[in-house]
Amino acid sequence: MEKKEKDFYERLEQKGVTRRDFMKYCTFMTATLGLNASFVSKVADVFAAPKERPPVIWLNFAECTGCAEGFLRSTYPWIDEIVLELINLEYQETIMAAAGHQAEESLKAAVKKHKGKFICITEGAIGTKYDGAYGKIGGRTFLDVANSVIPHAAATIALGSCASFGGIQAAKPNPGGFKGVGEALNVKTINIPGCPPNPVNLVGTIVNYLLLGKLPQLDAAGRPLFAYGRTIHDQCTRRGHFEAGEFVMEFGSKDAEKGWCLYTLGCRGPMTYNNCPTAKFNDGTSWPVQAGHPCIGCSEPNFWDAMSPFYEAM
Ligand code: SF4
Ligand code: SF4
Repeated sequence: MEKKEKDFYERLEQKGVTRRDFMKYCTFMTATLGLNASFVSKVADVFAAPKERPPVIWLNFAECTGCAEGFLRSTYPWIDEIVLELINLEYQETIMAAAGHQAEESLKAAVKKHKGKFICITEGAIGTKYDGAYGKIGGRTFLDVANSVIPHAAATIALGSCASFGGIQAAKPNPGGFKGVGEALNVKTINIPGCPPNPVNLVGTIVNYLLLGKLPQLDAAGRPLFAYGRTIHDQCTRRGHFEAGEFVMEFGSKDAEKGWCLYTLGCRGPMTYNNCPTAKFNDGTSWPVQAGHPCIGCSEPNFWDAMSPFYEAM
């Protein structure tokens, strides 16, 4: 075992994570990426002996920081630190020590240093009306900040529904003209929507990049197919089905844990693409429909307008 790898496993041990726990996570990540079991050790190598640490600049616009919090706090308690070791995080307002002018300077310096080579992760929507006047950081509009960073990135990941499609800021009547990052800047983004998105889908996108040297395949809405290739309904354990245009609930299930289908309570699972039923949240504990709440379609474009009223059947 290389020294780098040995050090990695020692660091894991110090955090109370056994090699078995780590391999379990790598197996889960491999399955999430849709790769076969022979890739598990390669996925482990991406974490344990990374060949490169891509520079990352993380920008926050109009949002609640729930996407970053979701990533930093709720996933496997140790994986956030491991991922932060995997990348070279140059700028992230929630966790960086710098503030004020010092922070502004560090953003400029990071863009200059890694021009054309960094991955930009963005959270939040961008106001486009009135020259972007509906949202500012340090006296500069979101639009201005985004325009000074994103065109210099090698790739941009829009994390969460606000960055991907505008989110609640873009819901009617949307006085500030808020849009997702790709639409606001007219650039291609890899969209990882959700309110919040599952952290595993961001980690999976980064691992995919480091493992295969390319970003994952995307659907028409810019979402990685490994995570957003199937509907919630297709993977749901409360599953019902359509018959001659009518939705038939599978009430006959003897399995009490499966529960009743939530379609008549307004579940948008049949029209929502995401991997919540398999990836789940909070270390794979549960997901909204399993916990008894209908899916509200949070990973679909414009879901606040398109999917509401949430508690009425489609
Ligand atoms: S609860 Fe929702 S996702 Fe699950 S089977 Fe019913 S309609 Fe489909
Ligand atoms: S179940 Fe539906 S509303 Fe809930 S997180 Fe998943 S996609 Fe979003």
